[in-house]
Amino acid sequence: MTTAVPPLTRLANLLRRRAAALVQWFDADYMPEGAAKMRAMPDRVDWMRCIPFIILHAGCLGVIWCGWSPFAVWTAVILYFVRMFAVTGIYHRYFSHKTYSTSRFGQFLLALWGGTTVQRGPLWWAYHHRHHHQHSDDPEDAHSPHVHGFWWSHIGWITSKRNFPTDYSKVKDLAKFPELVLLNRFDTLIPILFAIAIWGFGWLLEIYAPGLGVTKWQLLTWGFFISTTALFHGTSCINSMAHLMGRRRFKTEDDSRNSFILAIITLGEGWHNNHHRYMSATRQGFYWWEIDITYYMLKGLSYTGFITDLKPVPKSILEEAARADHVASVAAARRAALVHPEYSSFRRVVPAAAAIAVATVNAAHITLPRRPDDPAIHMDVTELAHDQARKDLPRSHPPAASNSPDGT
Ligand SMILES: [Zn+2]
Ligand SMILES: [Zn+2]
Repeated sequence: MTTAVPPLTRLANLLRRRAAALVQWFDADYMPEGAAKMRAMPDRVDWMRCIPFIILHAGCLGVIWCGWSPFAVWTAVILYFVRMFAVTGIYHRYFSHKTYSTSRFGQFLLALWGGTTVQRGPLWWAYHHRHHHQHSDDPEDAHSPHVHGFWWSHIGWITSKRNFPTDYSKVKDLAKFPELVLLNRFDTLIPILFAIAIWGFGWLLEIYAPGLGVTKWQLLTWGFFISTTALFHGTSCINSMAHLMGRRRFKTEDDSRNSFILAIITLGEGWHNNHHRYMSATRQGFYWWEIDITYYMLKGLSYTGFITDLKPVPKSILEEAARADHVASVAAARRAALVHPEYSSFRRVVPAAAAIAVATVNAAHITLPRRPDDPAIHMDVTELAHDQARKDLPRSHPPAASNSPDGT
């Protein structure tokens, strides 16, 4: 039998919770009830805590008042990709998996860059991501679409109170750097400064480059709110879609998949099944045709010496991939022949026609030796036949003179 809580106590508890959420907007480690207790709570949206996240989305509506200009739209696009690189190349491939090395100062710069993505601090990101790899698609996974449904895996999980704290004991390799802990704790600081910088840049353009037709509010709306919201949903597609859409090369224990479309949107993260199979490699597209722009950029950065020790995909994994691809192609051929017999002949004809077309094109590049006395093109068929017969005569038929008994 439960004892009734007095109304005044209930009100005091509610106010305390609201006040705590307010402080957490600026100090992510402020948890009066304790981080462990928060993590043990059932999943529930904490609306008060999510107000900054709601403001981020609502800020996109500013476009109704401030309109657009080509400069503002291009700023949004460029900042999307610059910061998508920060999510994938920094938060994911560096802080979460340490797939390359850098100096301590370099690491700090990377953390600052990562902070502009407005996806919380580097340690929070790395902790949750490592947890995802440990528990992929099992009930412990905070954002599995198979366990919690699409929308929860895409956006719901980050609004849940239990997912707010960082478990520093699970990211000890990062928590030993106080500068990273500081950025992680005050994780709204960089986004606020970033938004102010964009607004200030717009203000300068308004004064010194009026020909661009861009205003400070327009640049803030496009460069920060729209670009950041798009960046959030692009990144979230990996949590939701990359475990639902695409091909499974490796039979991993989770349901991760490889998707070209997701790889383009996220600069290479769409090769998620590759990544789940071998998460320590810098590259996630294992072959040249698996476009992985983050990897190309990291490779480029490695030439400057800013980052080093990019980790390759081991030969054994590539061999496993080759075997898996072979098995998959044989299975696909069998399916084409056995399933839907009314289509199977069509499916056989198309690859054959493609092969013939390729062979024909290649044949055009083959240079056969030409005889110097080839007939001129103006000869008609009769002339050609006669000319050919005349030329062939000495070889096929010896001269009549040599046949005479006396040799004359
Ligand atoms: Zn995953
Ligand atoms: Zn990962």
